[in-house]
Amino acid sequence: MIVGKPLFTTHQIQNRVQELAGRISHDYAKKELLVVGILKGAFMFFSDLVRNIEVPLTLDFIIASSYMKTQSTGEVKVFYDIRGDISESHVLLVEDIVDTGITLNHIRERVIARGPKSLKICSFLDKRERRIVDVPMDYIGFEIPNEFVVGYGLDYENRFRNLPYISIFKKKA
Ligand code: 5GP
Repeated sequence: MIVGKPLFTTHQIQNRVQELAGRISHDYAKKELLVVGILKGAFMFFSDLVRNIEVPLTLDFIIASSYMKTQSTGEVKVFYDIRGDISESHVLLVEDIVDTGITLNHIRERVIARGPKSLKICSFLDKRERRIVDVPMDYIGFEIPNEFVVGYGLDYENRFRNLPYISIFKKKA
């Protein structure tokens, strides 16, 4: 198993996160946000992002899974969902990576069904060429080519999430 050189270094990631948080703070000026992280993959991006957002916010999580090893199963399971009434909330969903779009589309429809005041989506990475379902995206960290990446929260079989950078992962050299 090979974890390649960083595709995005810690420094590049932190700069980009600050830019995104700046845009979000600007767009939500005078509003209060409910920032919802989609676990597990978004945990690192989520914690960096909320630390840099400058409007008042509350936070919650959705724990969802749709991926087996490096192949998308197309099936989405939700193990934990946002608690309480969200009808007065401006919800910002925070995802690690959008690949086929199946997971995010499923989660987006679930959240919309609960009638939030508004809903926007922020994903750290976007593998646009793999998209099957078109999901409206409001904030994107980086677009990446069709490669399997690990680090900064993203895993292969639950490993490598702790790497503070993003690398391309290959099973063999
Ligand atoms: P989608 O439903 O968009 O096909 O898949 C989204 C989920 O698949 C992501 O939340 C993530 O967990 C996983 N995923 C997609 N591409 C990658 C990748 O390149 N690396 C890792 N580690 N996970 C990925």
